[in-house]
Amino acid sequence: MKFNELDFDTYFKNYPDADGFFGKYGGAYISDELKKAMEDITKAYFTIAKSSKFISELRRIRKEFQGRPTPISHLERLSAKLGDVQLYVKREDLNHTGAHKLNHCMGEALLAKYMGKKKVIAETGAGQHGVALATAAAYFGLECDIYMGSVDIKKQAPNVARMKILGANVVEVTHGLATLKEAVDAAFEAYIKDYKNCIYCIGSVLGPHPFPMMVRDFQSVIGIEAREQFLNMTGELPDAIVACVGGGSNAMGLFSGFLNDPVEIYGVEPLGRGTTLGDHAASLKYGTEGIMHGFNSIMLKDENGEPAPVYSVASGLDYPSSGPEHAFLHDLGRVKYDVVNDEETIDAFFTLSRLEGIIPAIESSHAVAYAMKLAKKMERGSILINLSGRGDKDMDYVIEKFGIR
Ligand SMILES: *Cc1c(COP(=O)(O)O)cnc(C)c1O
Repeated sequence: MKFNELDFDTYFKNYPDADGFFGKYGGAYISDELKKAMEDITKAYFTIAKSSKFISELRRIRKEFQGRPTPISHLERLSAKLGDVQLYVKREDLNHTGAHKLNHCMGEALLAKYMGKKKVIAETGAGQHGVALATAAAYFGLECDIYMGSVDIKKQAPNVARMKILGANVVEVTHGLATLKEAVDAAFEAYIKDYKNCIYCIGSVLGPHPFPMMVRDFQSVIGIEAREQFLNMTGELPDAIVACVGGGSNAMGLFSGFLNDPVEIYGVEPLGRGTTLGDHAASLKYGTEGIMHGFNSIMLKDENGEPAPVYSVASGLDYPSSGPEHAFLHDLGRVKYDVVNDEETIDAFFTLSRLEGIIPAIESSHAVAYAMKLAKKMERGSILINLSGRGDKDMDYVIEKFGIR
């Protein structure tokens, strides 16, 4: 099936299907007990998603608490430096807490409240998802347990402090490598024991159905806003849109607004130090089909078929798979997935800071770096980049590792 054969007018009615599949990707590969819990969440979600009360409450929260809509900024100095193509950024760095993650955390916490749950649970690696969920939990008066490996707790002290100040309970996970994967396992275990009282809030368009769909829907506010704003600002649609892909939530948020438009769509994965397995986290570019964390997608595997160790300079992108909808859009050819390496990313980090007065997250710097390359290849036109988050969290690390450029 090719893009032209797919009717994107009805795309959101058909994908995912009732079992959570985007083509052959997605689904819910979990125990029967957990399946029952996921079915309850799906049912509740479909009820509130059609409820005017819930929709208007979420709209009010986005406006009055998150500071939405976030603006689009024209990068005039960077565009002029690169040539004749005009670059624009959707400013998710100006969303409360400094990244797009709050878009789905507020939705998930509102759903938890509606379902009468007392607590939200999640894992976190770098701490960004933990901080966003702790913020949502404080807002709604929910308890919040964040599972985090002891290695990450040491590395990410400021985010651990933020979560604690916000009233979250940071649960240290000490077994195995004591990083993200162990934290996911521990959080899932805790959830199975207590699923009647709590909700597991996944950090991206990942995990078993209904999470890839739900997180996409909550993040689609980015694309809906951006499409309208861009039309108002320029009178036309962008020629290309670009977003970085870790799990893929900020990218799906932007892309979902433009799937049915004559717009080129690019997802950017981290090439890290190079193409050797273990030196990057470009799962869609170099991976193969496989099941992990309850869903079928494209993933990087080691020689035993297990999730391979991955690396990226951006801790928010270093995951051995991507959301199932990205795998689907990849196979359809509707979205092109490509890579940039650490070096190009750090260069973009400094370039955007110096020329535009915006310090981007290292994750978002991947999208900026790719757009800069694309701008040089295109003769004219416009590119809209999703600036998924601000770079305050990365400043010390960048200066220590790369120095001031
Ligand atoms: C977590 C994070 C990402 C990666 O997550 P996606 O689900 O791929 O969007 C990208 N940018 C920022 C700023 C993040 O915090």
